[in-house]
Amino acid sequence: MTDWRNISLWMDQLDEPLQPRPALPASLHADVAIIGAGYSGLWTAYYLKRQAPHLRIVILEAQIAGFGASGRNGGWLMGAMLGEDRLLAGLSAEHRHASSQLLHGIPDEVASVLQREAIDCDYRKGGVLYCAARYPEQERAQRAHLHSLYAAGHSEADYRWLNPAELSAQLRIAQAFGAIYSPHCATIQPARLVRGLARCVEQLGVELYEQSPVLDWQPGLLRCAQGEVRADWIVPAVEGYAGSLPPLGRYQLPVQSLLVATEPLPAETWAQIGLQHGQAFSESSRQVTYGQRTVDDRLVFGARGGYRFGGQLRTDFNLNQGEIELRRYLFGELFPQLKEARISHTWGGNLGMHRRFHPHMLCDRRSGIALTGGYGGEGVGASNLGGRTLADLILGQDTELTRQPWVMHDQSPSSLAAWPPEPCRWLGYNAIIRSFVHEDQVLANPHSPPWRRHLASRMASFMEGFMR
Ligand SMILES: Cc1cc2nc3c(=O)[nH]c(=O)nc-3n(C[C@H](O)[C@H](O)[C@H](O)COP(=O)(O)OP(=O)(O)OC[C@H]3O[C@@H](n4cnc5c(N)ncnc54)[C@H](O)[C@@H]3O)c2cc1C
Repeated sequence: MTDWRNISLWMDQLDEPLQPRPALPASLHADVAIIGAGYSGLWTAYYLKRQAPHLRIVILEAQIAGFGASGRNGGWLMGAMLGEDRLLAGLSAEHRHASSQLLHGIPDEVASVLQREAIDCDYRKGGVLYCAARYPEQERAQRAHLHSLYAAGHSEADYRWLNPAELSAQLRIAQAFGAIYSPHCATIQPARLVRGLARCVEQLGVELYEQSPVLDWQPGLLRCAQGEVRADWIVPAVEGYAGSLPPLGRYQLPVQSLLVATEPLPAETWAQIGLQHGQAFSESSRQVTYGQRTVDDRLVFGARGGYRFGGQLRTDFNLNQGEIELRRYLFGELFPQLKEARISHTWGGNLGMHRRFHPHMLCDRRSGIALTGGYGGEGVGASNLGGRTLADLILGQDTELTRQPWVMHDQSPSSLAAWPPEPCRWLGYNAIIRSFVHEDQVLANPHSPPWRRHLASRMASFMEGFMR
């Protein structure tokens, strides 16, 4: 891969020339060696260097900064975390509240760094709209979800129901049943964030070597074709690419998500639709959809992709016609006026899914390994938290960040839950996804009889239970 602009709309939009930085020149020693120049690796380097400028920190990136999910995602910067309901369930009300506040504060923390370091990534904190938008069952599911959020201690200031009239003040969709609105989300131009962070950490003195894939690793030592790096701390920050660093692939399943972007749409079209303040939105089905109106007035819209047998990475993200049409169908259901809109970019990427379906931030002082990952499609914000947390853990600090339930102290990577071997992974993943697709097809068809709708939803919920 040398045409880095083809990675995504976001990389294509960058003003900078996409020249790779130099590769690792020779063997060297460092205090901290980070594998991967995505958000996780760069945030870790950033917070370490800000607190301990004397540390020699080296990042080795297989391709260029932003090559992975960080240069490809949907740009939702969430003040939330996958599986936080389960992670926080065992805490006292007071601790749960404090942890929720920490999560809700992620977009503001990122905003403060952007300002301090003069990184422009089109940050807009317009909140997020989880719309019940295609069939009535979505309203029931969303209202039940809202109820569980309140039961977990969230307030109306965090999540509130918008009826169709209230929703229309922000977003006008064809068939609105209502939406959950949360202010704790911003949208960004993802590549500008990852490339800006890369420049920033370099200016702080971090050494970033590109086109330097790590071929082999062990505590204290990384091997590349160009040489070795010895370090007190090794930080694998490869998320969906964990399969490239055995045995980490056992703990992170690489799954894909795929996006399309329209050409910039005219002002009259946006006057019909809304989304004036950079709100993120989804249509709340189990297709895991996500969208935003970009600063240059495109619609960017994504949905869940697939999983490849044996955890093989997908490298060719030229979407086929079926993949494009599914996304066009889904956004066309919300915005009939966009059914024929010209699509200028299609792309996708690999993300990492942990067996427990929530992130982990792990520190093993004996072997000098620290890692963060398992964000499962919600890593833009969580990786900032991950970077901050790893910095505190590596520096041996006992802080609010290191006392969270997703932090694993003094545990080696092998204490992470492993995925079952093939063919179980492939069969299990695909059975679950099939049930989701089937549910969506049945519910989206207004002629489906109630008993079929009920059965399809029960089956999908049952299958989803395996993901918990
Ligand atoms: C299509 C898509 C849409 C998404 N949308 C959203 C969203 O809207 N909101 C949200 O919160 N999350 C989203 N996510 C998830 C989010 O983008 C990721 O969780 C996050 O970017 C992970 O960052 P990372 O640094 O951990 O991993 P990555 O960004 O994947 O970085 C890993 C890096 O490691 C490098 N690498 C891999 N192997 C090696 C090796 N052996 N040696 C050296 N380098 C190596 C890779 O080249 C890559 O640059 C999305 C993900 C995808 C794929």
